[in-house]
Amino acid sequence: MLQQTQVATVIPYYLRFIESFPDVTALAAASEEQVLAHWSGLGYYARGRNLHRAARIIVARYQGEFPQEIADIQELPGIGRSTAAAVCSLAYHERHAILDGNVKRVLARYCGIEGWPVNREVEEKLWQQAEALMPQQDVALYTQALMDLGTAVCIRSRPKCAACPVQADCIALETNRTAEIPAARPRKVMPEKHATFLLLMHGNDIFLERRPGSGIWGGLWCLPQFDTEIAAREWFVRNGMEATAGERLKTFVHTFTHFKLHITPLRVEFAHKPRRAAQPGGVWLDMTGALGAAIPTPVRSMLLGLIRAQAGV
Ligand code: SF4
Repeated sequence: MLQQTQVATVIPYYLRFIESFPDVTALAAASEEQVLAHWSGLGYYARGRNLHRAARIIVARYQGEFPQEIADIQELPGIGRSTAAAVCSLAYHERHAILDGNVKRVLARYCGIEGWPVNREVEEKLWQQAEALMPQQDVALYTQALMDLGTAVCIRSRPKCAACPVQADCIALETNRTAEIPAARPRKVMPEKHATFLLLMHGNDIFLERRPGSGIWGGLWCLPQFDTEIAAREWFVRNGMEATAGERLKTFVHTFTHFKLHITPLRVEFAHKPRRAAQPGGVWLDMTGALGAAIPTPVRSMLLGLIRAQAGV
């Protein structure tokens, strides 16, 4: 949960998650939908799907015990080289180098490695340094210290060099380049996309469709989505739906890591639930049920906006 998300945001999600799935067996036994419902609003849903898949592998292949070999750990969904190394170093006191985002920043500055750390060549140089600097003993202590240094001292802007225990040998500090190293992500114009969401309503009930298992919002419950309003209207007519009322709601923007999505919801009300919307993969839920389901953040915000509008606040 903490990948890409701040601790304060994660805490309530974590507590709810642990209460529902107190151990790996409980998590493995849960359905993907139950897991995603607990992730709803946290974003980056692949993390939730990977955690669930990893739990199932741990139960099926390792009798519910977390594997001990770094190669086995690295094969679990969602675990990369650095995470596997951190687990082995911290939990099993084995000698493995780590290189998460914060550690990349510390090493880039300490060793004076220029360039964007996500660039493959730069990353390779950082891995070499991570391996070379690792002590022979007390690797767990060293790993924890390195992570803490990145979190609390060698922070992104205005690192606290005066309080840094490695200031005497730091190349970035010595050459006055702590603001330039590591280089920022090359600026790229964020693509803008557009979508129309159909907010189909029957009284207090809302129609949701399950998205395919992979891709954006994979496995989550969503409103029917179309590239254009024309496509949405064509779908509506093609399925013989007859509305009693409808309106276009305000367009809003949802920002993903790689693009911005401009979403225009069309709200449509029915006197009777249309047959098309009763097919497999679709479900009618009342507002409380919809908010408790695995829905992505923009759908949640839209529904909360609707509640506020209905309450006149
Ligand atoms: S001296 Fe400053 S730039 Fe260098 S590692 Fe320490 S905090 Fe980071």
